[in-house]
Amino acid sequence: MTDDRTALVTGASRGIGQAIAIRLAARGAAVAVHYGTDKEGAAATVGEIERAGGTAFSVQAELGAEGDVETLFAGLEEGLAGRPLDILVNNAAAAPAGPLGVTTQADFDRLFAVNVRAPYFIIERALPLLRDGGRVITISSVATRMANPTQTSFAMTKGAVETMTRTLANQLGARGITVNAVSPGATRTATNGAAFAAPGLADFIAGATALGRLGTADDVAEVVTFLASAEARWITGQVIDATGGLFLGPRV
Ligand code: NAP
Repeated sequence: MTDDRTALVTGASRGIGQAIAIRLAARGAAVAVHYGTDKEGAAATVGEIERAGGTAFSVQAELGAEGDVETLFAGLEEGLAGRPLDILVNNAAAAPAGPLGVTTQADFDRLFAVNVRAPYFIIERALPLLRDGGRVITISSVATRMANPTQTSFAMTKGAVETMTRTLANQLGARGITVNAVSPGATRTATNGAAFAAPGLADFIAGATALGRLGTADDVAEVVTFLASAEARWITGQVIDATGGLFLGPRV
């Protein structure tokens, strides 16, 4: 079932990253399942992939901490055992830290360290390992086009990775590497139920979504899997909206 492709998915111990890892493995890639603190979650991802006949190994590194990229790549290279990398998915991110007046400078710095600095230097460190014709996919957010004042600093981090996506696509095209971002909207996962628990919130979001419901981790993972496929070879420098049409405009 495994072909000779390999993938690294950051933040694959749960949520969208876990779904991406499982789907890439189902399409034949050997997957490095990165996690920060949730060792059991990463083991569950690896276990699910292996039970389905795929190949995976876990890699720990707390992104945003001193030496994060070196720690990540020490584990990655050990697991790859000399194989190149085909697909890099920068999925791990810290959650919104609050609006102006609430976000502290320490919160702001941490958000940028995890959501912007880490993906940037992970890509840089991955380049010698990445095969020509490879894929770099970073998970952004609908927050970049939604103007939600409770998420200003978080939205700024996602705006930065969208800009990074366009500029690096232009650089890495010479090697046939495509660089894209996928932008989820409100996405219910197995572990983030509390985020949508406020009375009426889930119904409000569904009502503001063209396709009439919240997203699932698999909805987003399928888009990532497509961008990672050979069929998506002519798409680069793009931010693909995977929100089901959240806040497209007034609904009549
Ligand atoms: P999640 O359930 O909170 O999972 C986050 C993953 O990232 C976990 O595997 C976590 O690992 C890892 N992670 C977070 N901070 C880390 C750090 N400092 N170091 C290492 N690993 C870290 O997230 P999600 O909801 O699936 O979201 C995944 C991506 O989609 C993120 O980029 C997010 O911004 C984006 N997104 C999500 C939604 C949504 O509604 N869910 C909407 C828009 C965009 P550990 O737990 O092991 O530390």
